[in-house]
Amino acid sequence: MARKFKKILVANRGEIAIRIFRACSELGIRSVAIYSEEDNTALFRTKADESYQVGFGKTPLEAYLDMNEIISLAKSKGVDAIHPGYGFLSENKEFARRCEENGITFIGPSYEVLDSLGDKIKSKIVAKKAKVPTIPGVDKPIRTKQDALDFAKEAGYPVMIKAAAGGGGRGMRIVEKEEDLIPAFRNAQSEAKKAFGIDDMFIEKYLKKPKHIEVQILGDKEGNIVHLYERDCSIQRRHQKIIEFTPAFSLPIEVRERICEDALKIANSVKYYNAGTVEFLVDSDLNHYFIEVNPRIQVEHTVSELVTGIDIVQSQILIAEGYRLDSEEIGIESQDSVILNGYSIQCRVTTEDPANNFAPDTGKIDVYRSGSGFGVRLDVGNGYVGSVITPFYDSLLVKMTSKSRTFKDAINKSKRALKELKISGVKTNIPFLVNVLNSEQFQQGTCNTGFIENNPQLFD
Ligand code: ADP
Repeated sequence: MARKFKKILVANRGEIAIRIFRACSELGIRSVAIYSEEDNTALFRTKADESYQVGFGKTPLEAYLDMNEIISLAKSKGVDAIHPGYGFLSENKEFARRCEENGITFIGPSYEVLDSLGDKIKSKIVAKKAKVPTIPGVDKPIRTKQDALDFAKEAGYPVMIKAAAGGGGRGMRIVEKEEDLIPAFRNAQSEAKKAFGIDDMFIEKYLKKPKHIEVQILGDKEGNIVHLYERDCSIQRRHQKIIEFTPAFSLPIEVRERICEDALKIANSVKYYNAGTVEFLVDSDLNHYFIEVNPRIQVEHTVSELVTGIDIVQSQILIAEGYRLDSEEIGIESQDSVILNGYSIQCRVTTEDPANNFAPDTGKIDVYRSGSGFGVRLDVGNGYVGSVITPFYDSLLVKMTSKSRTFKDAINKSKRALKELKISGVKTNIPFLVNVLNSEQFQQGTCNTGFIENNPQLFD
């Protein structure tokens, strides 16, 4: 039996908080925002039905990470469920457990799933058991220098050092030769310790210029799981995504189908529920390898929504309430009823200045003219007149997602809307995004993860 929520607290900020408030509003659920002192004037908090400042006397990041404070606030305000968004507490299994212990539903997968899939080493073991190909690597944390050296010698260079708890491209190093291995390992480990508080590291073979392909999945609490096709997220800088699109049309349909099936195999093997993304790398011979599961909503979920017509965030809430995928509320009768229609591209408009090595700019936005129109969706976080961009949080201003019947027109719509978008007061990456959209390789859909690095003219 489904239990309807009356009130949801969003333990996040910026565009994703607004995205979730909107879904709550559409479902007739009251929304609660939390905000730090630094976010006192931020747009997102005004989009919720109620908002409360948290993190008094704490750093800007700690405000969104204090489980005790967030849970006790939720309890005192009569909240039924917490949506963690992405980043912050979204993959924190302890947070999920403590929410449930306090009678608050965590809108995400179960504690057990977060435990087995939230860690990159453990999730590779899950993938192997499900008979899904993984990148050759060690299957436990590296404890001694010799373990790392032995693996690299056997597998051959280049290798990649990664943090088990990694995210956002942090705690990761490519190592080309033996003498660089130990220093790189130490650097990556201290970066991981700082970023995640956990310094378990592992090592795997480095694939040369693969494509990054990921599959959106959605499962209910009764074991029904579907995929919402794949996204191509190969346009990356320092292992971070900048532009994403769907479908990954440059790959043969059989390869895409195999990848989606493998994503389902992994999800089914752990009885995954709620929304999640299974990520793969695809090499130049079209072999695919599992890399990780992101057990949460992702920044680029918008493209999958536009080509399938499925509201992923509403579905997350309904699943957490206990609805089945084939219920009237969610309306996904079977995999065959998930129909892919057209092409969609998401551009992340950020305050990063490509001319200055993508350093995030800060300041107050004094001009903001929006680009919109047919086929363009905007998810605004910090893009509006008067918005104060601080150095404390990510540099995303607005996500611009286009949709059309052809990839060519989706590009044209993105370019047109980016041209309409006028921002002054902070530097943005808009000219850089337009250069990528104009490149022939992007238009063919064939870019791999080395594309930006290998095309310095994109910075002109
Ligand atoms: P994070 O969780 O920090 O985002 P991921 O494991 O998802 O890290 O990897 C991010 C990106 O790093 C990938 O999309 C890919 O470009 C690159 N990458 C990760 N592992 C490898 C590998 N073994 N070989 C080549 N590139 C890799």
